[in-house]
Amino acid sequence: MSNAVNAFMEQVKAKNPGEPEFHQAVFEVATSVMPFVEKNPKYQKAKILERMVEPERVILFRVPWLDDNGEIQINKGYRIEMNSAIGPYKGGLRFHPSVNLGILKFLAFEQVFKNSLTTLPMGGGKGGSDFDPKGKSDMEVMKFCQSFMTELSRHIGPNTDVPAGDIGVGGREIGYMFGQYKRLRDEFTGVLTGKGLNWGGSLIRPEATGYGSVYFASEMLKTRGETLAGKNCLVSGSGNVAQYTVQKITQLGGKVVTLSDSSGYIYDKAGVDDEKLKFVMELKNAHRGRIKEYADKYNVPFTPADPNLDHNPLWDHKADCAFPSATQNEINELDAKNLIKNGVYVVSEGANMPTTPEGIEVYLDAKILYGPGKAANAGGVAVSGLEMSQNSLRLSWTREEVDNRLHGIMKAIHEQCVTHGKNGDFVNYVNGANIAGFIKVADSMIDQGIV
Ligand code: NDP
Repeated sequence: MSNAVNAFMEQVKAKNPGEPEFHQAVFEVATSVMPFVEKNPKYQKAKILERMVEPERVILFRVPWLDDNGEIQINKGYRIEMNSAIGPYKGGLRFHPSVNLGILKFLAFEQVFKNSLTTLPMGGGKGGSDFDPKGKSDMEVMKFCQSFMTELSRHIGPNTDVPAGDIGVGGREIGYMFGQYKRLRDEFTGVLTGKGLNWGGSLIRPEATGYGSVYFASEMLKTRGETLAGKNCLVSGSGNVAQYTVQKITQLGGKVVTLSDSSGYIYDKAGVDDEKLKFVMELKNAHRGRIKEYADKYNVPFTPADPNLDHNPLWDHKADCAFPSATQNEINELDAKNLIKNGVYVVSEGANMPTTPEGIEVYLDAKILYGPGKAANAGGVAVSGLEMSQNSLRLSWTREEVDNRLHGIMKAIHEQCVTHGKNGDFVNYVNGANIAGFIKVADSMIDQGIV
């Protein structure tokens, strides 16, 4: 670690104690960007990095609601408005029991760079709650969403801050929150993205993150004259991002052999084809069941999650590509070594920060094609940006139009990564994404003065 990064991290840790995920995200960016900042003293003089790690605003609130037994439940609500230099705050809401301030700050920080890479005018934000939608009735989810939005509605708006979904927040939750916002503010506006098609949503938004991650992998493979056809792929998760990652890989001729949720993973040697994917979508999006039911239905092995293991066996299968699409830090150093040992040479991160810093070192040392989340999964927010444009225009684009734009944006992100990350024959996509994302925001901050 360079002295400058070291000193910077000491300061960040002292000012933000007990937030390890935030420290991890800042460390990754600082390692890439600090040498660039040292060569460009205007950024140093304007203390851009120091300003970027301080959220413009943090909103924390109480979310009380009544469960089906008439008992009062209390959750925490958050919105981190991280950076608005290039546009309104934009980023998802996460409902998961693990949610805390440090996790949302890491996600909001990543979002600033990701949104900058999309080429669209969006600042960075993130929010959510420690509410767990699992096992709750629809009525309970609605009551929670209404209470959450009752407070959040004071702070957001189509030109101020435009939230979307993330873990635990899909079409159902966005619907309940949009309904409550409209009722409170008496406005039908594009205040949220990921909306239903009948009420202002965009075609391809549900597909966008998964499709985008696969488009990004294809672009990386293209640099070696290859395609996804015939490739064996490991996918983790079985939610929104994982489902559409599987769909696009299959369309492009690849084969997906794993899927997971927090209780374990399935290994399907024959591949998750369209019919099996349909089953997964029903299982996860309608019945809200567990992935083990896939193993029971198709008679394939299920391995329960074991928190005592020092690695995740999902990443220990022969394959060419890996698409981590569940959650942060799901690939540690040993998992990364297992991936390489098993022949994996493409990693495209659908999830945010799924690989630990030690795991990233393993990828970079092995010089594989590694697309970090802030580049590879930017397709979701990119189509959210396109949803905002359609809302402002008060019209809807066709599937083809949105998909073409998404594809074009993923190509543009890849190109920026190559421009800023090329080192001889090798492209360091981590450096590329961090530096490219940084420049646009940093220059805008300088233009706008000390705010
Ligand atoms: P979903 O809630 O739809 O699905 C999440 C999946 O990951 C589920 O299968 C879930 O299993 C699993 N998972 C979540 N937390 C854990 C955990 N702690 N351990 C093991 N498995 C876990 O979320 P998304 O698909 O939307 O999000 C997945 C990832 O992609 C996240 O990192 C998110 O930040 C990122 N992302 C999402 C975008 C989007 O547009 N939705 C955009 C960009 C990034 P279970 O049901 O058992 O909890």
